[in-house]
Amino acid sequence: MGKPTGFKEYPRETPPEASPAQRISHWLEFHEHMPEERLQRQGARCMDCGTPFCQTGVVLSGAASGCPIHNLIPEWNDLVYRGKWREALERLLLTNNFPEFTGRVCPAPCEGSCVLGINEPPVTIKSIECAIIDRAFEEGWVTPRPPRLRTGKKVSIVGSGPAGLAAAAELNSAGHEVTVYERDDRIGGLLMYGIPNMKLDKKIVQRRIDLMAEEGVRFVTGVEIGRDLPAARLLETSDAVLLCCGATQPRDLNVDGRSLEGIHFAMEFLRENTRRLLDGQPSPAFISAQDRNVVVIGGGDTGTDCVATAVRHGCRSLVQLEIMPRPPMERSESNPWPEWPRVYRLDYGQEEAAAVFGDDPRRYLVTVKRFLADPSGHVSHVEVVDVEWRQENGRRIPVPVPGSERTIPADLVLLAMGFTGPEDVILQELGIERDERSNAKAEYGRYATNVPKVFAAGDMRRGQSLVVWAIHEGRQAARAVDEFLTGNSDLPG
Ligand SMILES: Cc1cc2nc3c(=O)[nH]c(=O)nc-3n(C[C@H](O)[C@H](O)[C@H](O)COP(=O)(O)OP(=O)(O)OC[C@H]3O[C@@H](n4cnc5c(N)ncnc54)[C@H](O)[C@@H]3O)c2cc1C
Ligand code: SF4
Repeated sequence: MGKPTGFKEYPRETPPEASPAQRISHWLEFHEHMPEERLQRQGARCMDCGTPFCQTGVVLSGAASGCPIHNLIPEWNDLVYRGKWREALERLLLTNNFPEFTGRVCPAPCEGSCVLGINEPPVTIKSIECAIIDRAFEEGWVTPRPPRLRTGKKVSIVGSGPAGLAAAAELNSAGHEVTVYERDDRIGGLLMYGIPNMKLDKKIVQRRIDLMAEEGVRFVTGVEIGRDLPAARLLETSDAVLLCCGATQPRDLNVDGRSLEGIHFAMEFLRENTRRLLDGQPSPAFISAQDRNVVVIGGGDTGTDCVATAVRHGCRSLVQLEIMPRPPMERSESNPWPEWPRVYRLDYGQEEAAAVFGDDPRRYLVTVKRFLADPSGHVSHVEVVDVEWRQENGRRIPVPVPGSERTIPADLVLLAMGFTGPEDVILQELGIERDERSNAKAEYGRYATNVPKVFAAGDMRRGQSLVVWAIHEGRQAARAVDEFLTGNSDLPG
């Protein structure tokens, strides 16, 4: 695969990016493409390692190691190196319905487990994936592929995020009549209203949705199943129902002052910001960070997206609080290859904040004690305290450090501490059992719930995760549904 000596000859290169100072003046994607010749050189670095850990897709120590959809990475690296782009596309589409999404937003666990990465920088797998599919769209190689025969079976999919979309694409290709129901006004789930525009341009999402509609998938927006249309009704009129409603219940912070004005969940901020960009005007629910002292609580990816959005609004100051310690610069001994490397990263949002305010906005080992108000009842400060992690009764717990209390000015607080699981309405109405983490209970690989002909996949089944896992589960669930409807399935799963 690739050029046998390529990894010795060529260093790792990633696509050029607009500088942080430049890109915060707009909402466009900031990754550019590498010229073809340089991409080919990157493909040449793939070194025929024999056992390509990059495509294993297993969970090690709680995180993905290798590609969860088992992309045939060494094969398309080799084809790109040889300039066979169309063949590379064919290999890529065998395993991935939406490489234009993963090629942009995936954290690339494949690269974390690349064999070259043991002692050299890994192959730039994600950029090559993105380049293959972007080129395919440019060349007109991606065209609607409706099924030749229809089975007459009706499948309803609730939720239009990557899990629902991947399942819809697969089930439609098997000839079933697929309708996707989405309560929001646009299709795409978190691809549309969660991940900000600068990471994933919404035209890219809409392009795929339009293609799927041309292939025969029916999309219904503005309908919440369980409220606008009873789930039982959907069950009566469908041969199978697949629930892909996501894990949208945000984790709250129950400390004094939580109900003050100016404290919002991250998704309220991000969703309305994207809606404003798409509609060309803000909705009444739009939250501006302009001239505000912003405190983001939560150091994960959602928090990073809040940071990048607040910087673009022109906030006055910005602090991001994280209760965990700062990760090491290099893998620790307890985090060996091929595990996902838990190392310090300056992500795009922090890089932009550093360009404006001079420093990474993250403060580690800090928790919130309470929110303080100004005379009008609006949040004015966050009182924080340092923590130490201690082992108590077999569990690691954060313990406040006495005397380290202090306040941070804040007139906009964004809670980005993750998600606790799926919402109740539809699960309660259908009587679907939940697992110990409150997700819809459905065995991995089978996806059937306790209710006959109802299946569940994506974040709703596994908890808040990654786009690539959602695509994986959507594909596998499609195969399970197809088998249920027809007795066997040729879908790849
Ligand atoms: C801010 C943010 C940024 C993220 N960034 C990344 C990233 O960069 N890379 C990455 O890999 N992952 C990222 N993730 C995670 C990723 O987006 C999710 O894991 C993925 O979208 C889950 O897909 P899903 O299809 O299961 O659910 P979702 O994408 O959550 O879609 C579920 C859909 O179901 C709809 N719905 C729910 N209930 C009903 C109902 N009763 N009737 C009709 N419709 C309903 C919802 O409106 C929603 O549109 C991010 C998550 C967040 C919150
Ligand atoms: S989908 Fe993600 S893990 Fe898989 S090859 Fe692409 S970037 Fe890597």
